[in-house]
Amino acid sequence: MRSTRNTRPDSRNQRKSKREKEAQALRKKRTCRFCDAKENYIDYKDEKKVQRFTSEQGKIIPKRITGTCAKHQRQLVTAIKRARHLALLPFVSDAIR
Ligand SMILES: [Zn+2]
Repeated sequence: MRSTRNTRPDSRNQRKSKREKEAQALRKKRTCRFCDAKENYIDYKDEKKVQRFTSEQGKIIPKRITGTCAKHQRQLVTAIKRARHLALLPFVSDAIR
């Protein structure tokens, strides 16, 4: 009883710090790909490019994960929606599990 109680908070703290380190490592990478490429317009016909920003299920990945800026995320969302309408991208795709 006593030993388990004593070890628990320590292990929790270690996990937290590990997570924080990973998060920091991810934060460093975060730059808007479209800003780096200096793109003013995201082409909805280029499905391969746009597909990178969708999950396996076909969902649009939020900007907090991809690091896309607000301006380009808005453009990206419209591009993905247009691509879906033209059946270039799926609305939903079921993962086999
Ligand atoms: Zn941008």
